[in-house]
Amino acid sequence: KKLTIAIDGYSSCGKSTLAKALAKELNYIFVDTGAMYRGVSLYAIENELILDGQIAENVLISRLPEIDLSFEFNEKEQRPELLLNGKNVEHKIRTLEVSQVVSQVAKISEVRSFLVDKQRKMGETGGVVMDGRDIGSVVFPNAELKLFVTAAPEIRADRRFKELQAKGEDVNLEDVAANLKERDELDTSRKESPLIQTDDAIVLDNSNLTPDGQLELVLKWVGR
Ligand code: C5P
Repeated sequence: KKLTIAIDGYSSCGKSTLAKALAKELNYIFVDTGAMYRGVSLYAIENELILDGQIAENVLISRLPEIDLSFEFNEKEQRPELLLNGKNVEHKIRTLEVSQVVSQVAKISEVRSFLVDKQRKMGETGGVVMDGRDIGSVVFPNAELKLFVTAAPEIRADRRFKELQAKGEDVNLEDVAANLKERDELDTSRKESPLIQTDDAIVLDNSNLTPDGQLELVLKWVGR
């Protein structure tokens, strides 16, 4: 049977790395829902709907039907990449600039229902590994396997910092750490679909695990 696997957790704790590897191993679809919230955020930035950190919420809500999001598999990188209205924006959505507004955009309930609908459609056939903040709680509450991933905050900040640096972004560790902390706070405290650990989720603290070690562990839980 093709399972639905939900992976939730804090920012930068390796959810997508795990989800991607797991999907490859099981020959499942991988959906990075954070990329979709980032895509809507990038649309808002590019259309000047965010000025000085203030979002023109009602305008953004009215423009949602104009936002087309899809994924295209990049064979070389072995990962799906986000297309915003047909344009590959995978690099643009990962910048600190987008990270600094995305949790505000993700608080808007119309944005959430717009994306949750798409996510349910993408996963309706099963055989999907989806990662985000509300997958086990809202998108697929009946998922056969739910993981709640965590890692020590300083380890997460360090990983994300190195990742951005490797991409040539001019960032410092303090800003990256502050952004993770702020997003975790916004994501856990928001009214609509906050990040929570559901009772039926398995907690996976990967502070001291390598990506391979983590994958091996989860494959055992999947029964493989
Ligand atoms: O997963 P990633 O860190 O790329 O997600 C970026 C942001 O998108 C999160 O900090 C959160 O505010 C939002 N998000 C969400 N629900 C999801 C996935 C992401 O609110 N399912």
